[in-house]
Amino acid sequence: MKNPARFALIFFLLLFPLLAGAHCQYNEGAAGPVRYADLSLVPVPDGAKVDRLIAVNTGFGRVEESHFAADGDPHKTMVVPMPVYLIERQGKYLLVDTGLAGALATDPSRYLGRTAACLARNELKRLIMRPGWDVPAQVQQLNIDPGKITDVVITHSHFDHTGANRAFLHATFHLTPEELRAGRSGGMLGGYISDDFPGAMTVAKLDFAGTKPLLAFEGSVDLYGDGSVYLLPLPGHSPGAVGVLVRTQHGLVLLVGDAAYTLHNIEKPVLMGVYIDADICWDTLCRLKRLSVADPEVLIWPSHDSQVFEEQPTAPDAL
Ligand SMILES: [Zn+2]
Repeated sequence: MKNPARFALIFFLLLFPLLAGAHCQYNEGAAGPVRYADLSLVPVPDGAKVDRLIAVNTGFGRVEESHFAADGDPHKTMVVPMPVYLIERQGKYLLVDTGLAGALATDPSRYLGRTAACLARNELKRLIMRPGWDVPAQVQQLNIDPGKITDVVITHSHFDHTGANRAFLHATFHLTPEELRAGRSGGMLGGYISDDFPGAMTVAKLDFAGTKPLLAFEGSVDLYGDGSVYLLPLPGHSPGAVGVLVRTQHGLVLLVGDAAYTLHNIEKPVLMGVYIDADICWDTLCRLKRLSVADPEVLIWPSHDSQVFEEQPTAPDAL
């Protein structure tokens, strides 16, 4: 690497990107540009159900509470999960995110490069990963043929959501042009690993322009055309983030990725410590808050909420 000091900084920021000026101007319930109670709610039409929704955890991270919420204690550390989700439908599978790279558990230099892995070794201790926790290994343990994973949705392109992309290049990746751009050229400073987005990747770019609003959200894409899985725009934490609304056998579940780190971000609401745009992030949190108040039957699952993770069925169990 050309500049070791720069890489030390980059990896500190990559793993714990407490961006400058990240404190929330909307915390403590102050009014932001959007008032959630004023938002209209478009009901979800009837549709098909998926067969199974399986949460698969790929590791844990130790983070400061203030990283997750602007009102959090900077001296208090939380241990949070890093899950992905497998959705079985008609004998095939949709994978939502690909989680942490398996090499981070065994040989981080294979993923990060030797110099960067060496410089980041203390920061990497914040990650709790074991061999066999990566998605390809767990798919094998679940006796799922990887070839049957035909689609991958990337909620957003941060490295803890894209580390096993290369294991699923036979599948079609669904993500917004903003996230594809960020993944390929956002750089490590922004939390992106460009190698997770090779040119050989088959991409179906998501475009919400002109699509119908759904629930409290401004657009929607009915992924299979049968109402079983909708993709929804949830920007703010990252530029083109999406959520995945899944109609399970037991009701609707909204996988929000990192649009909210925890339910606390939605319930209060309070901004996270990390976002691209505070106004847009707040707008998305308000839309999630509107949904949670108006329709508590829809389960909202932020990726890194340890309490939600403890309560949700995890592999090999399914919802
Ligand atoms: Zn994340």
